[in-house]
Amino acid sequence: MSGDDRKLDGAARAAEIRDEVAAQVAELARQGVVPRLDAILVGDDPASEVYVASKARTLATLGMLSETHRLPENTPQAALEDLVDRLNADSDVDGILVQLPLPGNLNTSAILHGVDPAKDVDGFHPENVGLLLNGHPRLVPCTPAGIMEMLRREGVEIKGRRAVVVGRSDIVGKPMAVLLLHAHATVTICHSRTRDLAAVTREAEILVAAAGVRSLIGPEHVAEGTVVVDVGMHRVTDRETVERLYPGNEKKMAAFEKRGSVLAGDVDYTRVAPIAGKITPVPGGVGPLTIAMVAANTVAAAQQRRDL
Ligand code: NAP
Repeated sequence: MSGDDRKLDGAARAAEIRDEVAAQVAELARQGVVPRLDAILVGDDPASEVYVASKARTLATLGMLSETHRLPENTPQAALEDLVDRLNADSDVDGILVQLPLPGNLNTSAILHGVDPAKDVDGFHPENVGLLLNGHPRLVPCTPAGIMEMLRREGVEIKGRRAVVVGRSDIVGKPMAVLLLHAHATVTICHSRTRDLAAVTREAEILVAAAGVRSLIGPEHVAEGTVVVDVGMHRVTDRETVERLYPGNEKKMAAFEKRGSVLAGDVDYTRVAPIAGKITPVPGGVGPLTIAMVAANTVAAAQQRRDL
């Protein structure tokens, strides 16, 4: 099988999702509704800046409105809660997105729990978490929702298969495991205390890596033919590491020369791809799906709030 046959093309599937969202936005416009997403960005973390800008750009391209509320690093909890309350009360706002991580002085769960569940496009509010858990999903966290869309569109069979999720965060790992379970996979969740990770992940027919540890998953973790989804996103800025990760890969080196960095995942792509049945690249895999699902969730919130 060639490298391209193996590729799970998250970027292409994300483009399809965006096209479908654009059609829904056009339909809503005929009914006089323009969905609007308000993002809250606290502090000046450069990665968060990039994510928020990218979400806003995507929404604009799809004909939706978006507003970014920038607050300084030292914003008090009460001021942030006030802003969330104002956006909750503003009937023009369909979706609210609090960009994470928040600075350490802020109580993240108190903020997320304050977002109106009907506007919670990230699906982090306990009401939405509960609905997902008991099988009546309303707004589902964007990264795992995007991965499920990709697997479905790529024709990956889930029912009855062994799935292993590495990572148990509220944002990715847990909702991912629940979605796979609801799709009838037999699911195992691994985390930092898992003993002999490789022995567990080698059992996987579908392996989702969401540990936030670059190159955690090597060839010893993957059985022949496994579908591998790499959620990790790490900026690599030193040449030696890029050469070690991608030996002889001229495209990667050219990207590094151009930008001074490349993105890498939780999976050692070069060494795992020859074993995997299918695999997502980084970049061009899970990232674009996440952003497409922010747009999809904003439209869903706009429709649900109006009973459309
Ligand atoms: P997180 O909150 O840091 O959670 C990481 C999880 O991985 C934790 O459950 C942790 O276990 C587990 N873990 C850490 N080291 C491990 C190890 N050596 N072996 C096994 N498990 C280990 O991270 P997150 O927010 O879920 O994000 C995970 C990664 O995905 C990050 O690289 C992030 O940048 C990326 N991400 C990408 C997108 C996208 O759109 N592409 C979206 C979201 C996140 P414990 O619970 O025991 O600590």
